[in-house]
Amino acid sequence: MRTTEDSYLHKGLRKKLVDQIREKGISDESVLLAIMNVPRHFFLDSAFEKQAYEDRAFPIGEEQTISQPYTVAYQTQLLQIKPFEKILEVGTGSAYQASVLAELKAKVYSIERQKKLFEANKKFEFLKQYRSLRLFYGDGFEGLPTFAPFDKILITAAAPYIPEKLLEQLKKGGCMVLPLDEGDNQRMHRLTKQLDGTILEEKFDEFSFVPMLIGKRG
Ligand code: SAH
Repeated sequence: MRTTEDSYLHKGLRKKLVDQIREKGISDESVLLAIMNVPRHFFLDSAFEKQAYEDRAFPIGEEQTISQPYTVAYQTQLLQIKPFEKILEVGTGSAYQASVLAELKAKVYSIERQKKLFEANKKFEFLKQYRSLRLFYGDGFEGLPTFAPFDKILITAAAPYIPEKLLEQLKKGGCMVLPLDEGDNQRMHRLTKQLDGTILEEKFDEFSFVPMLIGKRG
């Protein structure tokens, strides 16, 4: 069961969470405001409501997790989103990250390989307010060629290598943020497709994500 009530208590906990994330180094105020605006406890079963505002990942079923708020803020900050940009997200999961992107007024195309998670999100009332958020069931390695090119691409699962098809679906001047596997952990990468078509690679901190897997799961 999901909760639909957002009380002053929840808002207070969220404010504390935002302060913690800021202390950990997130400085983009638009990203912090988006975290403040999304009631994370809506994305978890009501039994776990209290844990919703701890800065950590949490299981959501199907062996998947809702990402840690700090990680969501970190990836979002690296994307430097502007309103109306077209963003492809790989790994909808709980749709928490997708909601944060939608709060930044991006046009979000989010793809999930697990049918159960995709279907649960289709029925998730809270998401209906985001008219610029579209959900897809499919394999993120393939991207969404019909809707390409994208201004920005975000991968929220551990990529074993750089998915070539996603680079092709990225606009010139755009960037892709992804955690790239390095054994036990992943290093956050930002790949910018420059105007001459060459790729600029930047490396950031290490994180731990669930794996990006090939193919759909029914
Ligand atoms: N962005 C999510 C994080 C979910 S965890 C959130 O905010 O909650 C990563 C998700 O990526 C999982 O749901 C997993 O099923 C999905 N995933 C893994 N490989 C994928 C692929 N090839 N295509 C699409 N989704 C994938």
